Amino acid sequence: MTDFPRSLLVFHLRFGDEAACAQYLAAARWSDGFVCPGCGGGKAWRLETKPWTYECADCGRQTSVTAGTIMHHSKLPLTAWFWAAYLMATHSNGISALQLQRQLALGSYKTAWLLCAKLRRSMLAPGRSPLAGLVEVDETEIACRSKNDQVTGGGGRSHQGKMLVVGAVEVEDNGPGRIRLGQVADYSAASLHPFLAANLAPGATAKTDGWSGYPGAAGITHDPHVVGKMAAHIVLPWVHRIFSNLKVWALGVYHGLRRNHLQSYLDEFVFRFNRRRTRHAAFRSLLGIAAGHQPVPYKMLISPEAKA
Ligand SMILES: [Zn+2]
Repeated sequence: MTDFPRSLLVFHLRFGDEAACAQYLAAARWSDGFVCPGCGGGKAWRLETKPWTYECADCGRQTSVTAGTIMHHSKLPLTAWFWAAYLMATHSNGISALQLQRQLALGSYKTAWLLCAKLRRSMLAPGRSPLAGLVEVDETEIACRSKNDQVTGGGGRSHQGKMLVVGAVEVEDNGPGRIRLGQVADYSAASLHPFLAANLAPGATAKTDGWSGYPGAAGITHDPHVVGKMAAHIVLPWVHRIFSNLKVWALGVYHGLRRNHLQSYLDEFVFRFNRRRTRHAAFRSLLGIAAGHQPVPYKMLISPEAKA
């Protein structure tokens, strides 16, 4: 698992066909040898009749190397999944569905879009540890891409026609540590406190611009720095830099973000930023994380609010 390709050419040689990808999945899944999910037995045969499926020698249960992963029951070849995960994990800005469709010569835009959407869903690691220590917290607005959303030029905290995002950045000695971004309905305490509770460890200190929505979150020390709007980027430099990178990325890769899928794009930005020093490991973590996910129904991908 440590021999990860560091270039496109080596990647192509390593994962050039279905067998190579399936072997990689099997090794990732059963690093100490096959274990039957039904009876715990350790002996199995590979079936000739079904692709990359093993039959338990004890109970007869059949297990595919893709079972429980986002690749399960996919009509796409494993090589397409691997390429998509590799491009998404290692490109510094990620890759849009349109770019992916062209690069992998996929049949339709819809296929490429679903591929991207499924990988993006698996970027949210379950059980990830919350931000700790000193954390800059601030809010920002992003213009919607939809033509139906009227973009208004209201100043201050008026934000009709915009999407509201709250961000948090760990402050380390040499710069930013890990980040989190969340979509919020408004900037009230009722919206901001759940974000703080979900993303900041108990005992963390939230450094803010003094906005009234932040104080009082349970377990969080509040460190307000009341400033005029112009000076906020000086008091909270890292979260402001993250916001500006986020906006440039959203325009550059996606030509703007849509309201329906905002949180999954935020998760993608966070995933890539938090793995910026280990891009090649991000691929492994993408597939590794994905292996722990239940397959996401199509309905949930096109409408994130829908329940499975
Ligand atoms: Zn078994």
